[in-house]
Amino acid sequence: MGCPHKCTFCNQNAIAASSKMPTGEDIERAVDEALKSRPSDELEIAFFGGSFTCISEKSMREYLDCAQRLVDRYKLHGIRFSTRPDGIDKRIMDIVSGYSVTAIELGAQSMDEEVLDICERGHTVQDTYEAAKLISEKGIELVLQMMTGLHGSTVDKDIKSAEMIASLNPTAVRIYPAIVFKNTKMNDAYQKGEYTPQSLDEAVTLCKQLCVFFESRNISIIKLGLNAEKDFDDTMVAGPYHPAFRELVEGEMYFDRIVKMLNDRGGCGTVCYSKADTSRVIGHKKANKIKLLELFGNGNVSFKCDESLALGEILIK
Ligand code: SF4
Repeated sequence: MGCPHKCTFCNQNAIAASSKMPTGEDIERAVDEALKSRPSDELEIAFFGGSFTCISEKSMREYLDCAQRLVDRYKLHGIRFSTRPDGIDKRIMDIVSGYSVTAIELGAQSMDEEVLDICERGHTVQDTYEAAKLISEKGIELVLQMMTGLHGSTVDKDIKSAEMIASLNPTAVRIYPAIVFKNTKMNDAYQKGEYTPQSLDEAVTLCKQLCVFFESRNISIIKLGLNAEKDFDDTMVAGPYHPAFRELVEGEMYFDRIVKMLNDRGGCGTVCYSKADTSRVIGHKKANKIKLLELFGNGNVSFKCDESLALGEILIK
């Protein structure tokens, strides 16, 4: 809800966990449920799946009042929400900063004017800059969402978008490769042959580059690819969707790292890793293991899970 119009790629009904607005009781129930498995100070009440600050001011205040009561009652960490860059201005920030809002997620999607135009986002790059500035000035955590492979975009434009996004100093980003859903203008363009989505390989390779870049800037990647929780079969038409997209990207990042380490060790050794890193080291469906054995020769490389190693730590022995 709240969106002034529909962006060409968006089918929120397909990707949102629910298509109805929650009531106060729904929110209370969700908090009660969450408190069963997590300490209260780790919990945030999050309003996602639309443009929170673009709903009516009355509804927005009611939701914030309700969330604030629960935050105070249970000593929760805070409140977060997602919105459009043009859904943020000084007045909105004055309202939301009266509540325990800890983070605001802005759907930047692209930092290229032409892509924003083609996708009918209805806001400019400047809107994203201004919204990010207003959020940071209030000391609220800024999270930016970007999409790759949108209609009108290229690898270079996506990389440039990532650089511009990083220049806004978000604490975290979400990266979503564009998927073609039914009932969207992007699907019309796809059907007419005017738009070609990224292949899965292209999306994985680009997202790997983006992840390496964001990590080098100390920006965490809190989401990579759409949730696997929803069955997209009925609504997805084309695009680089994979239920384990993040695992594919991280597997490629680990592969590059291990190749470099093995090369530094003369092309042979035992790759030692923590148990929690098994799927990233071995790769999805053992893809990394197979490729590494092919690359360095069967007898030259072996793999060993080592409980003494921490997550992310790899040693070549
Ligand atoms: S602003 Fe976001 S939720 Fe609203 S139509 Fe566009 S992509 Fe969908």
